[in-house]
Amino acid sequence: MRKLILIVLLGMFMVLAACSDEAEQTPDEQDDEPVEEKDEDKENGQEEVREEESEEDHEEQEQEEEKDEELEEEVEEVEEDQKPQYEMSDSWAFSPIDDANPSVVLLTIDDAPDGQALEMAETLKALDAPAIFFVNGIFMESEEDQEIVRQIHEMGFAIGNHTYSHQNLQNISEEEQREEIISLSELIEEITGEKPKFFRAPHGANTDFARNLVEDEGMLLMNWTYGYDYFEPYMEAEKLAEAMITGKAPEVDVPHSLLRDGANLLMHDREWTNEALEEIVEGLRDQGYGMLDPDLILTPSDD
Ligand SMILES: [Zn+2]
Repeated sequence: MRKLILIVLLGMFMVLAACSDEAEQTPDEQDDEPVEEKDEDKENGQEEVREEESEEDHEEQEQEEEKDEELEEEVEEVEEDQKPQYEMSDSWAFSPIDDANPSVVLLTIDDAPDGQALEMAETLKALDAPAIFFVNGIFMESEEDQEIVRQIHEMGFAIGNHTYSHQNLQNISEEEQREEIISLSELIEEITGEKPKFFRAPHGANTDFARNLVEDEGMLLMNWTYGYDYFEPYMEAEKLAEAMITGKAPEVDVPHSLLRDGANLLMHDREWTNEALEEIVEGLRDQGYGMLDPDLILTPSDD
């Protein structure tokens, strides 16, 4: 392959050299001499050039064909990538649909954007770690906050619906639940140009009404496997990082690790979580876990 590239580069260099020679000669020749004479005069000299050129043509043609093949392969790969490769289980964790790597975890950041979200997105981007940012409408009322959500989306992160004003859906009417969910989906689409594909209820408090509505809207509803940054003992970067990496939080009665393949990890837009984020991702990777790309998750919008 490397040899071929060298040949192709050499070929291109020769074509370029030939082009620049021609460019230098052409103006004089065209001004001073009739075209036929020029051809006669240069016949002998050009014989060799033609031979070289035909070899180059051949190489170029091969190169073109190869390019076409590469393009076709790329297109196939993209289509392959877009096919869902993970589905959610009853316990909010993810398993491979076919032969995707089972040792992955999903990173999610709730209650965004509330001060740390952009920096958290930048940290994750630098680590090449995908995630879902679950946003609330109340945090997106200013032009500035909407710009942050737009940027996070443009950085490649999924923007999920966490309701407009973060109320417990079990305490409000169906009409209010609809408003909480739909008005935020519309706002997200207005900002990012894309409908959200994921939904998480505040406090994980779901209702049958919301479940159905969310599915009708093409969103996947999820709670989480574990998350500790909203428990007092873990509102500190170092302790939080350890708890997230080990999956254990003995100070809130989680003595055994909840970390496992496909785990759905809950974090929030908080200072201590922001501070711990890089260590969390690296610690999970050290144990062999990949970060699950939300684009690969099967959602009702895929049906
Ligand atoms: Zn929340």
